[in-house]
Amino acid sequence: MEVILADDYGFCYGVKRAIKIAKDSADLSKKVCSLGPIIHNPQMVKSLADKGIGVVEEVEDMNCGKIIIRSHGVGPSVYEKIQARGLELADATCPHVKKAQMSAKKLADEGYKVIIIGEKEHPEVISIKKWAGENALVLCTEEEASNISFVPRLGIVAQTTFSADKFNKIVSILLNKSYDIRILRTICTATNKRQSAAIKLAKEVDMVIVIGGRNSANTTRLAQICAEHCVVHHIETVDELQDDWFNNIKKIGITAGASTPDWIIKEVYEKCKTWQAY
Ligand code: SF4
Repeated sequence: MEVILADDYGFCYGVKRAIKIAKDSADLSKKVCSLGPIIHNPQMVKSLADKGIGVVEEVEDMNCGKIIIRSHGVGPSVYEKIQARGLELADATCPHVKKAQMSAKKLADEGYKVIIIGEKEHPEVISIKKWAGENALVLCTEEEASNISFVPRLGIVAQTTFSADKFNKIVSILLNKSYDIRILRTICTATNKRQSAAIKLAKEVDMVIVIGGRNSANTTRLAQICAEHCVVHHIETVDELQDDWFNNIKKIGITAGASTPDWIIKEVYEKCKTWQAY
């Protein structure tokens, strides 16, 4: 079986960094927990749990030990709570996310109404909004952009993983909503590179296997993008591959979300390559 890996796939810089920070924080002499799962991948969360790194949902769930902030980041009040409780801090907020948070804060401090272009429920967007002040607004569609009122000063930032195309379309509508507009294009290139590579791959093969957590938004998006060009199966682990998927398939493509560990990708790749032997 011919198996082709996408030109760009798997862990991005921010996720690699967060996992390294988490692993370096492991310390059997004290409680170590991340605030929410470090990444949206159940297998990696389990692997960290095996090293003694647990997960708490709230700072209040810890009385002592070390708390790790994941790559999506948090708002200023969380840092205050961590300090008030005397917890040690390992901050794995991705530097690109930190830049978006600080850009939003700066715009708000300078008197701009801040608009974050992104998905309302995404933890990163929630964290950026916390830095952007009470009047900040999150927009995800052109329709939502059309509906906002004219404001004297408008400051725009983006969810780091937002589609560049969609961002540009929404911004073109917002250009009519103020006389004084500042646009800080806080999009990280990792997501766009993976999506472009996934489209290229899907056009070359008969079927794409997309590997990653079902709770990972960027993995699900890769599966949706590929499905526009060929047959797609989204799996979390090698055990989910099914014989009948491979009937009449000559060329398989593999891609993986930004939170998918290399060892899982390798297992799937090796099994697909030797498929005829099964
Ligand atoms: S996708 Fe970009 S912004 Fe998000 S964690 Fe990865 S490197 Fe950081």
